[in-house]
Amino acid sequence: MKNSAVWYPFTQHALEPAMRRIARTEGAYLVEENGARMLDAISSWWVITHGHRHPVIMGAIRSAAETYDQIIFAEYTHAPAEALAEGLIGIAPPGLAHVFYSDSGSTAVEVALKMALGFFHTSGRPRHRVCVMEHGYHGDTIGTMSTGERGVFNAAYAPLLFSVDRVPFPEPGREQATLDAFEECCATGEVAALLVEPLLLGAGGMKSYPASVLRDLKRIAERHGALLIADEVMTGWGRTGTLFACEQADISPDILCTSKGLTGGALPLAATLCTREIFEAHLSTDRRKTFFHSSSYTANPIACAAALANLEVWRQEPVGTRIEALVERQQRQLARFAGDPRFSDIRQIGTIAALDLSVPAGGYLSEAGPRLRAFFRERRLLIRPLGNVIYLMPPYCVTEDELKRAYEAIDEAAGLFAAGRL
Ligand code: PLP
Repeated sequence: MKNSAVWYPFTQHALEPAMRRIARTEGAYLVEENGARMLDAISSWWVITHGHRHPVIMGAIRSAAETYDQIIFAEYTHAPAEALAEGLIGIAPPGLAHVFYSDSGSTAVEVALKMALGFFHTSGRPRHRVCVMEHGYHGDTIGTMSTGERGVFNAAYAPLLFSVDRVPFPEPGREQATLDAFEECCATGEVAALLVEPLLLGAGGMKSYPASVLRDLKRIAERHGALLIADEVMTGWGRTGTLFACEQADISPDILCTSKGLTGGALPLAATLCTREIFEAHLSTDRRKTFFHSSSYTANPIACAAALANLEVWRQEPVGTRIEALVERQQRQLARFAGDPRFSDIRQIGTIAALDLSVPAGGYLSEAGPRLRAFFRERRLLIRPLGNVIYLMPPYCVTEDELKRAYEAIDEAAGLFAAGRL
């Protein structure tokens, strides 16, 4: 790639073709400068929920920009942040009582980890171990990389990453091994928190596990006085069929991280919600017990206004019905691959469908990934397989015909691949 000063994320510049310039966004589409309309079948890295440029959210952004820019978020506050916190507490699993703002999924998780360790520290019974699930992904900062799966993504930084306890992913039939491993970690009495993506591990390969496992993990954590941190950065805002994935396990985490769909995907914002107990552990006339975390753009008022408008969309529009319709569309389309030997592990959780293309060498660096991506780009589809794992996570406005087009392209790509022509 030439003629750009930009260093792009997750991009090998020596291999990638030139970036395609997007002139505008619209519903389920990114529209290129040359007019080509790309179906955004992965919601622009999983952020766009209702569709690009939802009028209610864009209207709120326009109007907030008439009144606010950034406002320091200590000593001073503003209406959008206060109303949003109230709104979030109103729809989050019961028991979450306080909201800490930041600006990305990674920072939401960093905040969660600091809250958990801070809780034990300020309570005078320090615990420092964090337990995580195999194949997890929680972001790209040093702290969140420490908690994520180790591999090619973070090998260069390995000496800086802190050690965590890992429980195996609950593969079908081996769920008990996960629970036993967690029980064993907790038995040390040192585990401050279990950090998990509820029901679905996204970047780790769209791997889902039953709600009953999440419920059992929560029970074990409770029994040992450890906290459960639900990283709902990807799963939140309807992706798994319910507003938050935790609802399906009927659990309330002690800490919940949300970002991506919080503003409908329009602006960067994140929130870490916690229980009253965690907040109150930091409440003291001793200033050393202050929660020492901030970032310059904490609770940006325009982003908060966008999130408030998103809440309004959820309240006023039939979002649940749209999600149900998308779940059914995915089911109908995915059915075409039932028993197809070109794929393995065909799965769907809520609005997300995933299938592994059968290749000799799988994994994230599988050569299948870039070749499939290029093929889909030719077909005007934004689909970015995770190695040989092809998944579709479209915005809720996607139509049956649009989805069908994506599935036809997947079918065609698999055929070409099997014939050695891709
Ligand atoms: N946690 C999960 C579960 C994610 O899927 C992601 C990003 O995909 C993150 C955290 C990090 O979010 P961000 O990229 O906004 O930092």
